Amino acid sequence: MENNNSNVPTNLNLNVRGLKTSATLAINELCQKLQDEGKEVFRLGLGQSPFPVPEIVVEALCRNAHQKDYLPVTGLKQLRETVAGFNLRTQNLDTDPANVLIGPGSKELIFLLQLVYYGDLVIPTPSWVSYSPQARIIGRHVKWAPAREDNFWRLSYQDLEDICMEDPGRPRVLILNYPSNPTGYTYPVERLKLLANVARKYNVIVVSDEIYGMIHHEGKHVSIAQFYPEGTIVSSGLSKWCGAGGWRLGTFSFPSNLKWLMDAMAVVASETYTSTSAPIQYAAVTAFSQHAEIDLYLSHVRRILTALAKYLTARLHGMKVDIPLPHGGFYLFPNFEIYRDVLKTHNIFDSPTLCSRILEETGVAMLPGKDFAPFRDELTARIAYVDFDGKQVLEASMLAGMENEPGEPFIRENCPRLVEAFDRLEIWFSKLE
Ligand code: PMP
Ligand code: GLU
Repeated sequence: MENNNSNVPTNLNLNVRGLKTSATLAINELCQKLQDEGKEVFRLGLGQSPFPVPEIVVEALCRNAHQKDYLPVTGLKQLRETVAGFNLRTQNLDTDPANVLIGPGSKELIFLLQLVYYGDLVIPTPSWVSYSPQARIIGRHVKWAPAREDNFWRLSYQDLEDICMEDPGRPRVLILNYPSNPTGYTYPVERLKLLANVARKYNVIVVSDEIYGMIHHEGKHVSIAQFYPEGTIVSSGLSKWCGAGGWRLGTFSFPSNLKWLMDAMAVVASETYTSTSAPIQYAAVTAFSQHAEIDLYLSHVRRILTALAKYLTARLHGMKVDIPLPHGGFYLFPNFEIYRDVLKTHNIFDSPTLCSRILEETGVAMLPGKDFAPFRDELTARIAYVDFDGKQVLEASMLAGMENEPGEPFIRENCPRLVEAFDRLEIWFSKLE
C-alpha cells in the first residue's frame, strides 16, 4: 500500500526499500530520455558490447526459433556438454557437463548463489555495481576488501588473508571479476595462485566472474579455477564476448564437490524462472563450439578494443590523468583526483556530482566511481568505451586485414563519437583551470 502523503511505499520488504534501479541500467535509461528530448549524448555509461552477435550464431538462433518446449531447469544437455568442452579448450579445465548450470544471465545465477549459500560476500572495492545490492536484497553481509589504485585496484592475497583471519571459520563467497568491470585490469598468474592458496586455506568459495575473459585484449585470460579447482565456480555467458547481452544467457561451472550448491540453485530456479529461453540455448551451442569464424571475430574484436584502449588512455594522459593501459574488456577507470582542488571551486566534491555535471555540460555519460565503491571517495569514473557502430568497425578491421594494426587514423575514421566524447572531456577539464 502507498503512503499518500509522501509517495513512499510503506510495506516494501525492508531489504528492498530504498534501493534504486541498478546504476548501469539507470544511466542507459537517462541517456535514452535525453536523446529523446533531442540532446546529444555520448553513451559511455552502460557496459554493452557494441559488436554484433557473430553471424553463425544468429543463423543458429534463426534455425531454432521453433524450439518451443520448456527445457530442463539446469539447461539443455547439449549446451552443458558444449560449455564443458569450452572450459577444456580455453582453460584446460575438466568440467563434468552434469555440473554446468545454464541461467537467464550470469547476473541471475550470481543472485541465486547468494540466495542459497549462507555466507558473507567478499568483494574488492571497486567492484561491479550489482554484487552488493544483490547481497542486500537477500540479507547477506558484505565485506568490501580494500584494493589499491597502485595495485591496479586489485585485491591482494594479504588483504584477503587479513579478512579471513578475523573469523577463520566463517563461510564466505569471494567474487573475483577479471578482466574487471569497472577497471579493465586482470590478475597475473602468480597473483591468482596466491589468492587461490588463501581461499583454500579458509575454505572460501570463489565465484570467478569471467564474463570478460574472452575479451582479454591479448587473448591470454587465465582462470583461477586452474589453481583452486575444488573451490571455484566459473561464471560466464554470452553477453560480452559474443555481443549478446540482451539474449540473457549465463553459465556457472561447478566443481564436483560443490554440486550440492548447484542443486539448491536449480531448485530455486525451478520455482522461479523455470528454465532459460530454448531458442537462445540452442544458439548458444554454436557460440560455445569451436568455429574458425568465431575465432576470427574474436581476434578482430580484441585488436579493436586494444587499439581503442591505447588511444583513449593516451587521451587521458593528455588530460593529466595517470592511468595504466587496461588488460581486457571495454572499460577505463580514470581517477580525476589531480583536479580535486579546482573542482571544489566549481562546487564539485564527489564523483556523482562530477559525472552529472560532465553529462549536463558536455553530453558525455559515464558512471561515477561511487557506484562501484560506495565507501570510497576518489574522483573516479567508469568509462565504457562502446559508443561506436560495432558492425562497421568490425567490417573495417576485417577489410584492413590482421596484418595492418588499427591506429589513430582508423579510430578517427571509424569511432568518431568516441573521439568527440574525449575531445569534449578534454575541453571541459582544460576550462576548469
Ligand atoms: N558480471 C559483470 C562483471 C558484468 O559486467 C555483468 C554485466 N553484463 C554481469 C556479471 C552480468 O552479465 P549477464 O547477466 O549479462 O550474464
Ligand atoms: N554489466 C553491464 C555494465 O556494467 C550492464 C548490464 C548489467 O548491469 O546488467 O554496465
